[in-house]
Amino acid sequence: MFALSARVTNRRILTTATRRTASFVSSSAKGTSDKRKFLSHASLPVVFGAAAGLVYISQKDNNVTFSEAAESTEDAVKKVGNKFATYWPRNIMILFGPPGAGKGTHGPKIEEMLGIPQLSTGDMLRAAVSAQTEVGKKAQAVMKAGGLVSDDIVVGIIRDRIQEDDCKYGFILDGFPRTLVQAQALDKMLRESGQRVTKVVKLNVPDSVLEERICGRWIHKKSGRSYHIKYAPPKSMSKTFTGSVKPETMLDDLTGEPLIQRPDDTSEALKKRLASYHKETVPILDHYNPLGINAEVNANQKMQGVWEEIKEGLSNKK
Ligand code: AMP
Repeated sequence: MFALSARVTNRRILTTATRRTASFVSSSAKGTSDKRKFLSHASLPVVFGAAAGLVYISQKDNNVTFSEAAESTEDAVKKVGNKFATYWPRNIMILFGPPGAGKGTHGPKIEEMLGIPQLSTGDMLRAAVSAQTEVGKKAQAVMKAGGLVSDDIVVGIIRDRIQEDDCKYGFILDGFPRTLVQAQALDKMLRESGQRVTKVVKLNVPDSVLEERICGRWIHKKSGRSYHIKYAPPKSMSKTFTGSVKPETMLDDLTGEPLIQRPDDTSEALKKRLASYHKETVPILDHYNPLGINAEVNANQKMQGVWEEIKEGLSNKK
């Protein structure tokens, strides 16, 4: 009786520990910020040790010899990681919302909480533009004007990216799919390996609020840190006597490096971006609605309130 309950308890502990291990292992991989990378790496030895110890306890319960149980912590973690990557469904979520809704703010928090990477097609395309790759050259003008890059290009980018190792437990899509054709292409590529989108979280913000959010936004390019002249100004910001910001004083709080404004964060480009959001992107919600995976969040409130609603939307306990 005791042996049985001990085994059950151990298995429960093991499951929790391995989930955490999976999360830490994955979030330590590519696509996370330096801080998060540091935290994950710092935590890894502890988690590895705990997982290996629990693997040992669990195996001991099942009469496995000591030598089999005494595998290296790294092997134990690899085994557990492979098990999750092979048999558990991948957590594939779409962070949905208009430009300026907060996808770039809350995506990294989900990334940290679940240990799966946020994949932003906008970021990937901007990197391609900076590097002046073939894709970047094709996308540059369309992006600056607030138009949509061709479905073929973005589908190709995502198809390659989700095969990388850090996506094996799942990923958060930000800015993709943006058209029904992209959603269908995504479904098809997932279906090929028996998978599907598991959650769509929609951030709701009225259009009238978005212009102020977008046009006051400044970004630290290297880290993606985002500032706002009214709501989150950098410490260095100073204004002229007419009240406009002095661009040379817009510096990143942590590095002191200059901040930039995205070329498409203008009211003119925003009109186009919002028009395509309503016409091309919103219909995607109807496409996923029959699966019962859509969650709505009021993203026009204080940041903590938005985050609480996002967590509730992601949760299975509703
Ligand atoms: P974002 O950073 O998500 O606002 O994206 C910036 C720009 O990149 C968009 O305005 C589009 O020009 C382009 N873009 C990003 N993702 C997509 C996508 N899934 N389909 C088409 N164009 C995209």
